[in-house]
Amino acid sequence: METLSGSGLFPHFVPHAPQPDPTPARFSLLRRAVSWVATLVGITVPVAGLVMAIVLSALWGFSWINVGLMVGMYFLTMTGVTVGFHRLFTHRSFQTVKPVQYVLGVLGSMSLQGSLLDWVGRHRRHHQHSDKTDDPHSPYPHGAGLLGLFRGFWHAHIGWAFAPMPTELARYSGDLRRSRALRAISALFPLWALLGVLIPAAIGLWCLGWRGAITGFLWGGLVRILLGHQVTWCVNSVCHLWGAKPYASGDESRNNAMVGVLALGEGWHNNHHAFPSSARHGLRWWQLDISYWVIRALEVCRLAWKVRLPSERELELRGELVAAS
Ligand SMILES: [Zn+2]
Ligand SMILES: [Zn+2]
Repeated sequence: METLSGSGLFPHFVPHAPQPDPTPARFSLLRRAVSWVATLVGITVPVAGLVMAIVLSALWGFSWINVGLMVGMYFLTMTGVTVGFHRLFTHRSFQTVKPVQYVLGVLGSMSLQGSLLDWVGRHRRHHQHSDKTDDPHSPYPHGAGLLGLFRGFWHAHIGWAFAPMPTELARYSGDLRRSRALRAISALFPLWALLGVLIPAAIGLWCLGWRGAITGFLWGGLVRILLGHQVTWCVNSVCHLWGAKPYASGDESRNNAMVGVLALGEGWHNNHHAFPSSARHGLRWWQLDISYWVIRALEVCRLAWKVRLPSERELELRGELVAAS
């Protein structure tokens, strides 16, 4: 176990001067239009998938295999996001062997939340400018009153995904870009996303025939992606608006128990913003953090090491700051 003493927000992140975007303006505009449409398709198709899945369940009957495919694929792909994209690649809260890194990178890509390098770049930017102007998905400030709250929630939850990608985002993931394998995993994002819906379809076909292929594609693919999207986006929206704030973090991050459970531990978001390099987000025994259990299991199997946790003194210090403010 390692404590966080002496570490900055991103000890591995060495910013360098932003490079000018070499893409001519008309291509840049086209690229933005393509990205906007791809985002719209990526968000709306899973919603249509849910409607289809419900209709077909009513027509063809209920199957536990579909429930198993949805829950199993949700756990695997969300672990790729929470343990891989977030705690390993973004925050370096533990170290692990290369095969585990690659498996987590591929599983996270199957969640259809963007490529590995884009995800990490955007999330590091979120921590650097948390709830300030350059935060890509803060619910603040979007005006006063109920309308301002709704606009802020909408932007933090879903609206940010349609905003153009900041040109300097690449410099936030410079350390990961040095690895050819991670660059390849990131570039092959469409392939992993496709595999993420084809694998449950293939299992459904094997277990239940051609109807199973369709329902496996819907429940283990599209509905699972929809659930993963909404739960992950709740970390950006709900967890910066509603919940407890036990630690001084310099922003509006909150601990929200419901998101905490559904997002495999990521909803203990104030804990995370106060101690971003900690591998454990549920810092109290009652704060369920399944992602940390996965990291602990890897550690027990000697597949993870340098698992970083805040010391009791660091917890006390941040807690005292909140009490004093
Ligand atoms: Zn946050
Ligand atoms: Zn983070």
